[in-house]
Amino acid sequence: MARFTDNAWNKYDEKDMKEVFDFCDGYKDFMSKCKTERECVIEAIKIAEKNGYKDLNEMINKGEKLQAGDKVYANNMGKALALFIIGKEKIEKGLKILGAHVDSPRLDLKQNPLYEDTELAFLDTHYYGGVKKYQWVTLPLALHGIVVKKDGTKIDIVIGEDEEDPVVGISDLLIHLAADQMDKKGAKVIEGEDLNVLIGSMPLKGKEKDAVKENILKLLKDKYDFEEEDFLSAEIEIVPAGRARDYGLDRSMVMAYGQDDRVCSYASLMAMFEIENIDKTCCCLLVDKEEVGSIGATGMESKFFENIVAEVIELKEGYNDLKLRRCLTNSKMLSSDVSAAFDPNYPSVMEKKNSAYFGKGIVFNKYTGARGKSGCNDANAEYIAELRNHMEKYDVSYQTAELGKVDQGGGGTIAYILAQYNMEVIDCGVAVLNMHSPWEITSKADIFETKKGYVAFLKEA
Ligand code: MN
Ligand code: MN
Repeated sequence: MARFTDNAWNKYDEKDMKEVFDFCDGYKDFMSKCKTERECVIEAIKIAEKNGYKDLNEMINKGEKLQAGDKVYANNMGKALALFIIGKEKIEKGLKILGAHVDSPRLDLKQNPLYEDTELAFLDTHYYGGVKKYQWVTLPLALHGIVVKKDGTKIDIVIGEDEEDPVVGISDLLIHLAADQMDKKGAKVIEGEDLNVLIGSMPLKGKEKDAVKENILKLLKDKYDFEEEDFLSAEIEIVPAGRARDYGLDRSMVMAYGQDDRVCSYASLMAMFEIENIDKTCCCLLVDKEEVGSIGATGMESKFFENIVAEVIELKEGYNDLKLRRCLTNSKMLSSDVSAAFDPNYPSVMEKKNSAYFGKGIVFNKYTGARGKSGCNDANAEYIAELRNHMEKYDVSYQTAELGKVDQGGGGTIAYILAQYNMEVIDCGVAVLNMHSPWEITSKADIFETKKGYVAFLKEA
């Protein structure tokens, strides 16, 4: 089959190029600051407020009404966010929804993480999401998260990002003594319980037992004002330290931690800010817990979304159950998540006609799933036809792909959850190299075309 897109870089003139690079500079800043779902939500709210969005819960408390043109957001426990631009039509006509996730694979601290072994202090972790564990050793790592004390005080932690900050990390065995290790299978080279983060080696003077650990505790108390027991109510994530950067001598790509799926989250958020005067209400969902099955109060399976749509209906037109059901069933959604980019180093797992390529624009996945499409959301041909039309009208470069060869593996997204409301849903997003590794790579052209594709969808669908 003929490819329906040329390389997007070929169509850009000088002005377009500047727009692409400027957009991705904003993206790199976002990615450098936002390395946890909480940080993404805080930053997204900050940007949204600058763009005229108001807190929906405050409006509910004040008994205010919503009208066409209003922009509101609802924050779910600081880990997920829904943004709405209210349209002129009745909400039961349906929403246009962009949905992406802001959680990414990482190492979470255990509840009792701190220990000392042979006069070294460590933090014990439990990895989150799908990771190749051997990729997380011998890297500069940072700590991001919060500690909540019994009285409710929240302490924000970010250590390892400032140039002057120390970094932490996980050791690997020297090659000289690694004969047995090198014979192990990839999944066993570094095992889950070996992901222990080295954080200190200096004993506290005058202490005999666990003096290195004691010294770390003293430091945490002096600098951050919390004690060992407070780890019980903390959420601290170990992530790669350092800024997102240009990648490639031509600077055509971005290297960043957590691009799955913050690249689609950022593009969705930015697309919302380009929309004014709309007929149908538009919604952007940034959810948590996708990497661990979308369960939990802040994951897509939660009733948060449905409840908040009910609130929007109440504030705009007065709620009833039928209006909510009609609204959801008449909605259309782009379930925005990353795709695997074709990697010429590993061609054997891909099927070339149905792979995503760097520079070819936003990727549509009619279906995901594995072993005979099992568990997939299979988007309707009619819906895809409509989207093709919108993409072409807005000169968006787009491509279609599957995640690898038949029976090679597979993956899931949040698409099937929204599809339960009987709405039209398709997976789409940005192609990523090194997916789920500490440093993922994307093409700047694809990021830009994806944002353009979202704008086309919000304006036309
Ligand atoms: Mn994802
Ligand atoms: Mn993922």
